[in-house]
Amino acid sequence: MKYRSTRGQVKDYSFEEAVMAGLSPDGGLFIPQHIPQIPANWRQAWAKLSYQELAVEILSLYIDESEIPRADLKALVERSYATFREQDVTPLQKIRDGLYVLELFHGPTFAFKDVALQFVGNLFEYFLERRNRTDTSGKVHRLTVVGATSGDTGSAAIYGLRNKKNVSVFILHPHGRVSPIQEAQMTTVLDNNVHNLSVQGTFDDCQDMVKTLFGNKEFNDRHHLGAVNSINWARILAQTVYYFQAYFLFLRSLNIDPASPEADAIKINFSVPTGNFGDILAGYFAYRMGLPANKLVVATNENDILYRFFESNAYEKQTGADGNVKETLSPAMDILVSSNFERLLWYLAREFEQGDDATASDAAGRTVAGWMQQLKDQGSFRVSDQAVASARKIFDSANVTDEQTLSTIRQYYEPADAANQAKYVLDPHTSVGVTAADRLSEQHQLTAYPKGNHVMICLATAHPAKFSDAVETALKPVEGFNFQKDVLPKEFIGLLDKERKVVAVERADPQLIMDVIERELRTEGIQF
Ligand SMILES: *Cc1c(COP(=O)(O)O)cnc(C)c1O
Repeated sequence: MKYRSTRGQVKDYSFEEAVMAGLSPDGGLFIPQHIPQIPANWRQAWAKLSYQELAVEILSLYIDESEIPRADLKALVERSYATFREQDVTPLQKIRDGLYVLELFHGPTFAFKDVALQFVGNLFEYFLERRNRTDTSGKVHRLTVVGATSGDTGSAAIYGLRNKKNVSVFILHPHGRVSPIQEAQMTTVLDNNVHNLSVQGTFDDCQDMVKTLFGNKEFNDRHHLGAVNSINWARILAQTVYYFQAYFLFLRSLNIDPASPEADAIKINFSVPTGNFGDILAGYFAYRMGLPANKLVVATNENDILYRFFESNAYEKQTGADGNVKETLSPAMDILVSSNFERLLWYLAREFEQGDDATASDAAGRTVAGWMQQLKDQGSFRVSDQAVASARKIFDSANVTDEQTLSTIRQYYEPADAANQAKYVLDPHTSVGVTAADRLSEQHQLTAYPKGNHVMICLATAHPAKFSDAVETALKPVEGFNFQKDVLPKEFIGLLDKERKVVAVERADPQLIMDVIERELRTEGIQF
């Protein structure tokens, strides 16, 4: 399998090249040359596989044996998911008839980004080790990962990369502006190759610093800067696995044979709390590969550029108030534009281009490049009615306010029909997904299985203890609610008091940050 860029200027990258580059040199994102199809007998063949076995089957459709031999891929996958606390890796919980949550938060940092980043860290290490083994020039291949975070991505990246050979990781966070739990998760990792920089400034300042460093050719060449942001193809790929896992876990929980007519009659919908469109894009790939998904629900908070796209054909940056992102109770979804949406746009463009595959694919690259230019120059672009109609065959969307987010958390903690509903604590992101699922089910009058044939599986993207402010605000009025007892996992107890390692940076100044990075690299014993 080769990879091409969504902007058409780059083709024929190997999987390794696409993963190690992250972003394509033409500014686009990597997509596979074609979408592989699951084998005809997948229902029987995969029904009883463990998460790890399923992952090997799915990943090997996208990674040639000549790039990563199957035995190596298996070892990479096993190592990546050994850090998860649950046998099923992403277990499925029934909340009521027809509504399930797929818990993606049983990895080291209690949020769904672990599923991809545990794998990406091992993949980086694997490729670097192989390059060092086979390169006889004496050159040492290594990577200096630099990223900015307002919370979530930083800790998942740190846990994905800690202790990896030939990799150093630098995560910049705005001093005092990250939630205490998230700050503790990042700074209590004491491995030699992990460096937290607490920068006096805002999250945007941190992001600007990272961009400046990547743009500095000399610094970049000397340290081989790498990124782990959500545009990396390996992250999307790793996430396709749990859509299949959800499908099988659901049928298994009801003892339904996946190859039976009964299984065929059930319509499975996924609702996905969405920010940068990475998580739900993985669902789109699973669907295009052959997973029988009925609808993928794009659930947004009030930063709803995606919801507005499906309503209006226009992809338009928010212009309200000051044009800034709105701070909501689901901060990991606070975005102005969704970086991974560009990949879906390529498929929407491709469907309506003329000519053979190569010609139409090249034309789609030009169309996407044009749209991205318009977005940059004018803050918006518009696609055709047919393109949105085509997207709507599989996607649906809803936007959710903070008030609704809180009321849904309360509603599922205090079920009206206690006999048929579990008491469940949703984190605010998952609550956005559940609210969207409930709203659309009602709007389209979908009858829940087993009375009807609709099932909603909402992806639960974080453990509620990670977003304690929203959860406590929602549940404080409920009699008997006790955050320590009802929500806090044992791993978080004492976390705030653990030893920390963090470098204070008194100004958001690129030269200062570069000096700090080089000083820290020397303490790691790295020569440059
Ligand atoms: C990153 C994140 C999201 C959004 O996922 P995207 O892939 O960016 O759409 C949702 N919830 C949580 C908790 C996250 O960390």
